[in-house]
Amino acid sequence: MENILEVNNLCTSFYTYAGEVKAVRDVSFSLKKGDALGIVGESGSGKSVTMMSIMRLLSDNGKITDGTITFSGTNITNLKKSELKAIRGDRIGMIFQDPMTSLNPLLTIGRQLMEPLVVHRKISKAEAENKAIEMLKLVGIPEPERRLKQYPHEFSGGMRQRVMIATALICEPELVIADEPTTALDVTIQAQILELLKDIKEKMNTSIIMITHDLGIVADLCDMINVMYGGTIVERGTKRDIFYNSRHPYTWGLLRSVPNPKNLIKERLKPIEGQPPNLLNPPKGCPFAARCDYAMGVCLEKKPQGFEISDTQVSACWLNHPDAPRIENPLLGRKNNE
Ligand code: SF4
Repeated sequence: MENILEVNNLCTSFYTYAGEVKAVRDVSFSLKKGDALGIVGESGSGKSVTMMSIMRLLSDNGKITDGTITFSGTNITNLKKSELKAIRGDRIGMIFQDPMTSLNPLLTIGRQLMEPLVVHRKISKAEAENKAIEMLKLVGIPEPERRLKQYPHEFSGGMRQRVMIATALICEPELVIADEPTTALDVTIQAQILELLKDIKEKMNTSIIMITHDLGIVADLCDMINVMYGGTIVERGTKRDIFYNSRHPYTWGLLRSVPNPKNLIKERLKPIEGQPPNLLNPPKGCPFAARCDYAMGVCLEKKPQGFEISDTQVSACWLNHPDAPRIENPLLGRKNNE
């Protein structure tokens, strides 16, 4: 299968009064057409900045300092803003976290929904309206003709998020980036939105990148998962690799902080103690070393390379080195390198 997106050695920094914040450090990954990729990590891990770099929606003090981004075979890293506008909203759609701050409260839902079509497709208002009605139906909004004339405050939180999804999909993009699309919603609406994204992925063969801090969210939707910490990808693999054969203590920490109704993990929920590293001055060794129960001398001195666990799984942790001491994976009761 062809890759729709390839990111190679991406580095993004923010220039602040305190100095250069290296928010994304040497991030590489790819996404195949029609697949869903989950990017998971806690706040400040660099997941949203990675996506904002791809969309070139960084704030004025942010800059891509190295690396390449290839979308559908074209290197888009250095495209001019006007050239990128032709891709954003048309071939790449984005769903933001909070629909109330992303939708304009002064414009009707219909006008906001039709805008990408009018800008990118140059179609008539009547055609755009028909398409908008079709999209509202697709995302499960009843009475779409009437709803088009309403304003965002007349919609519930879940309905507004559905409108955001409809807006992101209206031009039938090849790739949709969803940045924590369910964080502001209650769990029942969250389940509906995830079901909707799954459905759309199947029906429209859309590739999806789902950014979240919650591994539970990606379990159902995503084919591949990247775990980010301290501005880098610390582990990546298929859903099965990450949930059943993780080789990184940070991923174990994330898994132990997710409630597990099937009780696969037989222990109490356990938070990851400590704070993420200061990216003004990133540690020279493993970024997780200060919080890791298994840190060794080498972890403080040398950044772990990506150890290939299988064709699909890579883990950046020294415990995967053949000479590393054997420790028991707390989730599986199995030792590393076994
Ligand atoms: Fe922990 Fe060392 Fe592995 Fe980093 S490299 S996660 S500090 S054991």
